[in-house]
Amino acid sequence: MHFSLPPLGYAADALAPAMSRETIDYHYGKHYKGYIDNLNRLIEGTRFERMSLHDIVLNADGVLYNNAAQALNHQLFFEGMTPVPQPIPAELKSRIERDFGSIDEMRDKFATAATSLFGSGWVWLVEERDGRLAVVSTPNGVNPINDHLNPLMVIDVWEHAYYIDYRNRRADFVKAYWPLIDWNKS
Ligand code: MN
Repeated sequence: MHFSLPPLGYAADALAPAMSRETIDYHYGKHYKGYIDNLNRLIEGTRFERMSLHDIVLNADGVLYNNAAQALNHQLFFEGMTPVPQPIPAELKSRIERDFGSIDEMRDKFATAATSLFGSGWVWLVEERDGRLAVVSTPNGVNPINDHLNPLMVIDVWEHAYYIDYRNRRADFVKAYWPLIDWNKS
């Protein structure tokens, strides 16, 4: 199987000013595309060629893992944003309130994790195997499915995700990201 860059579900300038067209052009058009191109090159002629992206992430290691996981992470990230702010669906809202106390407490925990993660990585709202929700950080390209966690929402905190629009102000990016989350994709 060869993978292609999924189309964006919104116009490249639709998330501005929270996320500019220039950021989308580089992040989606160059970084994300680069991971998919590397992935396709690396699986060529191997047993991974017949696997789904999830299965590659669950079975690969090294450079193939890094590129496959980054392809999956960016798929979730770009699919998970919307230019039209979405309310959190009632069922998810009650699970967040059950496990974090309130939406604000989850948001604070998520923002703190995203702002304080050292180096490149991702911060996720995940569902654990027992159905409880948690905020977790992963370094570099690591996807939580490798820890048997089901990702529901994610922010990319690699510098390439925010440096054009926010320079070193990651906290401002994290704050601006919140209204872009499409909770219907969670
Ligand atoms: Mn990225």
